[in-house]
Amino acid sequence: GKINRGPHVAMLATPGMGHLIPLAELAKRLASRHGATATLITFASTASPTQRAFLASLPPAVSSLSLPPVDLSDLPRAAAIETRMSEECARSVPALTAVLADLRRSTAGRLAAFVADLFGADSLDAARAAGVRRRCIFFPSNLHVLTLILHLPDLDAAVPGAFRDMPEPLRLPGCVPVPGPDVLMPLQDKADPCYRWMVHHGAKYRDAHAILVNSFHAVEPGPAKVLRQPESGGPSRRWPAVYPIGPLIHADAGRKDGASSSPCLEWLDRQPPRSVVFVSFGSGGALPAEQMRELALGLELSGQRFLWVVRSPSDGGAVNDNYYDAESKRDPFAYLPEGFVDRTCAAGVGLVVPSWAPQTQVLAHAATGAFLTHCGWNSVLESLVYGVPMVAWPLYAEQRQNAVLLSDGVGAALRVPESSKRREIIADTVREVMRGEGKGAAVRAKVAELQKAAAEGLRDGGAAAAALAEVVQGWTTTTGGGEKD
Ligand code: UDP
Repeated sequence: GKINRGPHVAMLATPGMGHLIPLAELAKRLASRHGATATLITFASTASPTQRAFLASLPPAVSSLSLPPVDLSDLPRAAAIETRMSEECARSVPALTAVLADLRRSTAGRLAAFVADLFGADSLDAARAAGVRRRCIFFPSNLHVLTLILHLPDLDAAVPGAFRDMPEPLRLPGCVPVPGPDVLMPLQDKADPCYRWMVHHGAKYRDAHAILVNSFHAVEPGPAKVLRQPESGGPSRRWPAVYPIGPLIHADAGRKDGASSSPCLEWLDRQPPRSVVFVSFGSGGALPAEQMRELALGLELSGQRFLWVVRSPSDGGAVNDNYYDAESKRDPFAYLPEGFVDRTCAAGVGLVVPSWAPQTQVLAHAATGAFLTHCGWNSVLESLVYGVPMVAWPLYAEQRQNAVLLSDGVGAALRVPESSKRREIIADTVREVMRGEGKGAAVRAKVAELQKAAAEGLRDGGAAAAALAEVVQGWTTTTGGGEKD
């Protein structure tokens, strides 16, 4: 029979604000568009103040709970974050099974689906054991990266050596060719356990009923077409249907009158339209001290206004040093070049803020003219939603691949060349994206086009809205469980 209350969805967010934010957006959209309620499940390792504040800000339809801690003390200190997340998830399967069984009882039959994000594939076993009928993967990155991961079990055999040593770029169905060194970072060292984990996830995704992807057709039409074709999984239908449901971004409620506004926004209010380069490396990114210095001098040399979220440099640590807590380890200002703050910030052309900025509000601000970004996929989507052209400066994870897609593929960014991140080149690239007549103008026009396409897809009847509706339809129809149950 028909249920008279909306479905309940359990969602598992693996560590990192870049995973939690879009998953929460999906939960909010399911609530507002489809009358659903959701429980966001997080891991004990990620209970940072940033995350707590974020979870507390969610609407009543979206509740959250944290899994009990699991012992990871046997992992080497240098274990990759992808390994940590995968291990934490795999070891949490028993606890998660119990949590899901509880949720099934407490929601009185409304628990219609379980959704895990990209490193949570093992949790599909917990959902199956707890009797949750529909089990999905939410992929917060893009269709290019998904295509790669889905092909990994095959590529593992087909590419025996290291990706970075491949003489030719990696070519996958529908995708922009990716030079070997730009291929997903956790795949670069096949001796590292995180490589095996990625291959494992690629195989495990095939257990899902559907894969929801935070991307949209216009930004990567090639793989969008290929993955939507019913035969995309090959004759044996090796993987589930793929639904591009994005761009889902965290749009802050906006600035409340009277409430203490952020210093960033107050500063932006005083700048001319489209005059400021926003510089940020996501929730976990950190630059080596030397590059931090060149970037500072490059920004100064560009003659453009800038707003820069600085973190302490990564030397001695990793480029993703701040990943788990999104906070700087040391005073970042101490690493800026001598006199830089006086020449720029004190002169009114720059603002440097530590650790964290209200990024979507900054990108939405009329004064923002470009985004120098590490190409984390959420940042990219936010930039496109607000029509901000990008300077690509990738650091880790899939960011280099994203930079290839943006610069060589769709043309929404110019990339600072990997080989020469010197101040002159940085200044030229920034200036070109801000006001250049050649490549810069083309990037700005492309981004405007993508902004329009993104909004259209999410409107009622748009491609992304229709894709999500189709997924929910699969959750709420009471007939048949599908071949996977
Ligand atoms: N973010 C923010 N303020 C910051 C840094 C990041 O609000 O100072 C948000 C950003 O808007 C995005 C997310 O954190 O939603 C970062 O996700 P992304 O995929 O871009 O990068 P990651 O942090 O996963 O590397």
